[in-house]
Amino acid sequence: EEVVQAVKADPGVKAVYITHNETSSTVLNDVRAIAHAVREVSDAFIIVDAVSSAGITRIDMDGWGLDVVVTSSQKGLMSPPGIAIVAASKRAVEYASKKENESYYFDVVKLKENADLSQSFTTFPVSDFMGFYEALKMLREEGYEHAYARHLVYRDLIRSSLREIGITFVADDADASPCVTGVFAPEGTKADEIISVMRDRYNVEVAGGQKHLKGKAFRIGHMGFINTNDLLVTVSAFECALKDLGLDFEFGAATRKFLELRRTIGRDL
Ligand SMILES: *Cc1c(COP(=O)(O)O)cnc(C)c1O
Repeated sequence: EEVVQAVKADPGVKAVYITHNETSSTVLNDVRAIAHAVREVSDAFIIVDAVSSAGITRIDMDGWGLDVVVTSSQKGLMSPPGIAIVAASKRAVEYASKKENESYYFDVVKLKENADLSQSFTTFPVSDFMGFYEALKMLREEGYEHAYARHLVYRDLIRSSLREIGITFVADDADASPCVTGVFAPEGTKADEIISVMRDRYNVEVAGGQKHLKGKAFRIGHMGFINTNDLLVTVSAFECALKDLGLDFEFGAATRKFLELRRTIGRDL
């Protein structure tokens, strides 16, 4: 409703930008609902940042009426950073073709002209592409639906096991990201301390919160090339860190819960 109000209030709006999976706040936005609502009141281009959602959750570009979807190699697509992937609708390509482009290298029209001929406009980072190609093959072999379901299982494993020791999360269940979970540091602990103890003593790297969540929350990434063994290590390292920091809680309860849930899944995903 807020997006629709903003679009209605300004007839000059040419594009609406939406972040699909908000990696900093650990929220998965309902792009489909926003895009459909905008389309009812405006012809604005709908441009989606899918950097941390492609390969992790469904994106139906045509069905949702999206004009441009941008993603990159280094998140759910499991590859080294360095490649940006841009998908554009017919009308977005037509619009871009009519614009004067002031930049020589960053010219999507030239890139597309070359891509249509299976050529590259400039020298491409070939080794990155080989890795990326392999990662896409892995995703295809696994099956997209399986990959999407797997990420939901990871998300729910983390949330259910940490809840066992009273942990609360940045995002509500309904909006929680399948690729990263924002965890509030329990009362009496500091997120920065948890992060350093997990890293220095237990070899597990988690990310800090950003902006107003800095110091209050940290983020557990569970996207792409990962399995339940990685998550088990993360949950147990978190409990060890809390114990080391002097928190009074039922030590081991989250890990035990994780193990119980893990057994119900059967063969590793
Ligand atoms: C990581 C991320 C980015 C940044 O991607 P870069 O390749 O580092 O520029 C942008 N948007 C989202 C949603 C991300 O998760």
